[in-house]
Amino acid sequence: MELKSIVLNKGKEKSLERKHPWLFSGAINRIISDTGEAPEIGELVEIVDYKNNFLALGYFSDGTIAVRIISFKQIDINQEFWDDKIQSAYKLREVLGLTDNTSTNMYRLMHAEGDGVPGLIIDFYNGTAVIQAHSIGIYNVLDSISKALQQVYRDSLKAIYNKSAESIAKHTTEEIENDYIYKNSDPNLVGLEYDNQFNLDWINGQKTGFFLDQRESRKLITNYSKNKKVLNTFCYSGGFSIYSLKAGAKEVHSVDSSQKAIDLTEENIKLNGFKNHKSFTSDTLDYLKENTIDYDLIILDPPAYAKNQKSKHNAIQGYKRLNLMALKQIKSGGVLFTFSCSQVINRKLFYDTIVAASIEAGRKIRVLHHLSQPADHPVNIYHPEGEYLKGLVLYVE
Ligand code: SAH
Repeated sequence: MELKSIVLNKGKEKSLERKHPWLFSGAINRIISDTGEAPEIGELVEIVDYKNNFLALGYFSDGTIAVRIISFKQIDINQEFWDDKIQSAYKLREVLGLTDNTSTNMYRLMHAEGDGVPGLIIDFYNGTAVIQAHSIGIYNVLDSISKALQQVYRDSLKAIYNKSAESIAKHTTEEIENDYIYKNSDPNLVGLEYDNQFNLDWINGQKTGFFLDQRESRKLITNYSKNKKVLNTFCYSGGFSIYSLKAGAKEVHSVDSSQKAIDLTEENIKLNGFKNHKSFTSDTLDYLKENTIDYDLIILDPPAYAKNQKSKHNAIQGYKRLNLMALKQIKSGGVLFTFSCSQVINRKLFYDTIVAASIEAGRKIRVLHHLSQPADHPVNIYHPEGEYLKGLVLYVE
């Protein structure tokens, strides 16, 4: 079957020529199709410039991003294509030392645009691959992706779990359920990250089950934890708390508004055999307001406050308020780890927001580290929007 052709307005080919993986709907002049019908959501289409020169192949969608590009070459999208994509993602993780590592056996295998496949996230948890499709186009080819994973991992792949129900819900009226799409043997339910143990629960956990993107920042926290009193807010499954305790923290308090998250934290604390820890099910701002804070080390890792441009302004106010409270209250000589995972708040904007909070806090503050997402969450150099996680480590006198 001939692919439908999306013909661009003159001049609108530039961003695709620079290999940017999104085509915005405003760039489209017309659609050429055998049947005279518009492409369906998730349909593979080709994009051509106004002179009909081939530009790219991608999956059609009905949003502002009309096509997400999966190839800038005019090739067949078949099993071999998906084998290559998964192989190439795997190869990078091999280079990063993650695929055969006795102290860390969980990592992100496929990071959407960062690995050349918009809409596809695959996290690998000690033998189990957990897939999140974010577009119908990708959802429709999960069978090929599953085969490609089996091809790459062979016997070391225990299972593949499709966790796309939530991420795909807004694109379809179809009832979609999360489930295993491949099972070779029973999955391992404990994973290791820098020798710290974590219970794995991709079925009930948020996103694919664990926030792999904070691995390197969690490691960094160990440098600042010894003999310290630590507050880990937005703790989810307690990652930062576990690392701090392992590094000899005097006491760690974990805060999350979700009881489920606090339960996960408690289970992980137990799994690692730590004692000097307390959890609090609370909104972080309420916690900071209600408690006399005498912490030496505070972690602020909130969920994305801005999901789109519209909520950007409110998000900035939110980050400022949160950071101001922590900066006012942290002990003199204290260290603050602060993050933003909102894609629309760029690094400079986040930094400026923290400067504004610092000015208002009126304390002497120095920047120790600029943090970002780890290398298994790579940024495609032609898609700067892919840099989503920003962090700062501040020394507060
Ligand atoms: N730092 C964690 C990941 C944080 S994810 C890690 O290393 O794994 C964000 C967490 O913030 C989620 O667990 C969510 O339940 C929690 N959360 C969201 N809003 C909150 C609020 N207002 N106060 C406290 N926790 C909140």
